Amino acid sequence: MQKISDLPALIEALPAEDRAIAERILDATATTGQLDPPEEMHAWIESSFGSVEAVREQRILKVTNRVTLEGTLFNELRARRPLDTGTDLNLEREIEATRGDPFCHPETGTPADVFGRVQGEHSSTASNVAKYDGFHGVIVFDDHNPLRFTPEKVSDYVSVGLEWGRKALEADPEARYFFLMWNCLWRAGGSIIHGHAQATATRGSHYPKVERLRRAALSYAAEHGSNYFDDLCRVHEALGLGLPAPDGVRAFASLTPVKEKELILIGPSLEDESFHHAVAAALEGYVHELGVTTFNAAFCLPPLAPTEEDWSGFPVVVHLVDRGDPSNRTSDMGAMELYRASVVASDPFAVARAFERSI
Ligand SMILES: [Zn+2]
Repeated sequence: MQKISDLPALIEALPAEDRAIAERILDATATTGQLDPPEEMHAWIESSFGSVEAVREQRILKVTNRVTLEGTLFNELRARRPLDTGTDLNLEREIEATRGDPFCHPETGTPADVFGRVQGEHSSTASNVAKYDGFHGVIVFDDHNPLRFTPEKVSDYVSVGLEWGRKALEADPEARYFFLMWNCLWRAGGSIIHGHAQATATRGSHYPKVERLRRAALSYAAEHGSNYFDDLCRVHEALGLGLPAPDGVRAFASLTPVKEKELILIGPSLEDESFHHAVAAALEGYVHELGVTTFNAAFCLPPLAPTEEDWSGFPVVVHLVDRGDPSNRTSDMGAMELYRASVVASDPFAVARAFERSI
């Protein structure tokens, strides 16, 4: 079975053209960390990691995306631990305990935007009380429990979010840059348990990380004469990290995840319902195959109206990432993640295999 620590060899074994593309996008280097545990620690090490040998010499793989300069450190020792798929009954209780919150009656519990509310089949919008940006809305799900989603509901949340973006653009023709996100539960930054996503619209230029990606993809196209996003998908698929997806949509477990089990979905348009369903299927796989209960979803797309800068070849990119066990008080992000590189335990090959099982 393929594993992340074999990545340099897996890239070397690719057919010539795939290998050339992989090598111009990815830099994968392995190193070994060594330690010398005292006798007194052996029993604990064996029960936690299987054997003392496994800990004495640990293989660490650093993967850097040369185009975007995103990067991740994988520790084989941590990656080898089984993925936790248990569901926590206390979490259900905790979610139920907050029923009756303001999002349970958004008409009276939340403010409207200056352009009113967008009403969907399974959700409606509100104006965020303390805003990130000039336009900052909330897509309030009809469901209190954020984990009770279905493909139809997810599609509704996305469509309602996009319609909110169009309303913001009508209200301010400069607010062309739209961002849709879903922070599910507290570890993912969600301060309210009731199911909700958020949308913002900004002026002048896109948010810095999206703008950086646009510039990186343009430089890549100028240098190599091909689309960065197509090549990124191709490399992941050639290595066996692709996930099942409908026509026109591509999905894979990322080789440079920002944190655990990151998935990336790429499609031509956020209006495409089959794309919404692919996102929902990925989230269902998260919850049912990988035991994820708290996650971030980020929808990155070109501006909703023409701009001076060049967005050609820039698709809709959706990132999904697991934020860990909701009962764990240790944050999943420290100084390494904030300032240097992500440190990740889950093996992207194991994540992709979980999705094969789910079909
Ligand atoms: Zn509620």
